Amino acid sequence: MPVKNRLVSITIPVSTFENAMHQFDQAAARLNIDKGLLEFIKYPKRSIIVKLPVRMDDGHFEMFTGYRVQHSIVRGPAKGGIRYHPNVDLDEVQALAAWMTWKCAVVNIPFGGGKGGIACDPSKMSESELERLTRRYTASFLDTFGPESDIPAPDVNTGEKTMAWIMDTYSMHAQHTVTSVVTGKPLIIGGSRGRREATGVGVVITIREALKHLKMDPKNVSAAVQGFGNVGSVTAQHLHSLGVKVTHVCDVFGGLYNPKGIDIEALIKYVGKNKKVVGFHGAEPFDAQKILYAKVDILVPAALENQITGKNAARVKAKIIAEGANGPVTPEADVILEKNNVFVIPDILCNAGGVTVSYFEWVQDRIGYFWTETEVNEKLERIMTEAFTDVLKVALENRVHLRLAAFMVAIQRVVEVVQLRGIYA
Ligand code: NAD
Repeated sequence: MPVKNRLVSITIPVSTFENAMHQFDQAAARLNIDKGLLEFIKYPKRSIIVKLPVRMDDGHFEMFTGYRVQHSIVRGPAKGGIRYHPNVDLDEVQALAAWMTWKCAVVNIPFGGGKGGIACDPSKMSESELERLTRRYTASFLDTFGPESDIPAPDVNTGEKTMAWIMDTYSMHAQHTVTSVVTGKPLIIGGSRGRREATGVGVVITIREALKHLKMDPKNVSAAVQGFGNVGSVTAQHLHSLGVKVTHVCDVFGGLYNPKGIDIEALIKYVGKNKKVVGFHGAEPFDAQKILYAKVDILVPAALENQITGKNAARVKAKIIAEGANGPVTPEADVILEKNNVFVIPDILCNAGGVTVSYFEWVQDRIGYFWTETEVNEKLERIMTEAFTDVLKVALENRVHLRLAAFMVAIQRVVEVVQLRGIYA
């Protein structure tokens, strides 16, 4: 719930980190685990804030604030993306780092959770300014990042190029090329086949399994996708391949609607050129604000967190919400959606395909041998379907919704490792 400040009567926005902690508490309350141990695994291990002076193209210096949070290194190195966005702050980065811990545990890969970000508006910066900012950020974390300790990846407004700059800066200081320090790199410098598509592919695998469970035929269902970046566009593309009709899409600039289904391949080409979905001829303009309430069977929020809240959850008409984004549904919304029988595939399961192929990239970099796209996709398919099955089983056994079940699976896996390792104290 937004908190009213009694003295000045302003509304303080939702704390994303508190939402993440609330989700943890709900699941932990159903498990018989020592309270002290729960406290130990719940909070971030390390949160670092750095100041980043950058020389802008016109010669003046600008200061930016950068963050890196290692939530957990219990199951392996901290793993998680780097976000460039004006709203990045410690609260958001801590939440995203915590979700990475639980996500890696849900898909059972040997990583902990981390996340990073820089408060900046990349749409107002030139490429060379972004490069200098990225290199300065990397230099501030030379003792934090590393293939054995903390491995960044792309997130909102960062991509292959950003990862190449990070890899290069880190390698220059190490005096040798260290490809496994980041994932999501271009193929030619140690990236993995299938990594760019992996998150969207994974989202669609979980949707396919959910449709099977709910006995719905993909050929008779429609979908709306909020966000048409890496995750949203690939999800839309693979939904289309599954036979699902994608009738609504939007990005930050506006939305599109076509009741017969949007030609996603053509739209991807259009966005490649124009950088936005608006203006595409194969669909009508649609109010992007209303996409969450579209009359569709499947809604895929694939933009940012806190989109479906206690205030608007009752207006959602979809039967399935597949969380391509991290944290798009708040705990208040979860209660309403559960009451309305909406089947929510939680982020820590739904969008885990990205980190799964990041894990494959890290493995391939370390052995110096690269797999074919078919090999990558077969392994991704196995991990995602197993994770979905594990979570669904716990949900049905405990009569809880999928988010609670996913947290229960994840917490148990982290606790088991802590118990085996013991606590050094
Ligand atoms: P991206 O920068 O490639 O794309 C983000 C998209 O969201 C853009 O189309 C942008 O226009 C749109 N958008 C932003 N604000 C919006 C708004 N208010 N309304 C509608 N659209 C809006 O980012 P991405 O990598 O696709 O990440 C999207 C989400 O998926 C984030 O929550 C991210 O944390 C999560 N995620 C990404 C990955 C990955 O591998 N990239 C993996 C797991 C989770």
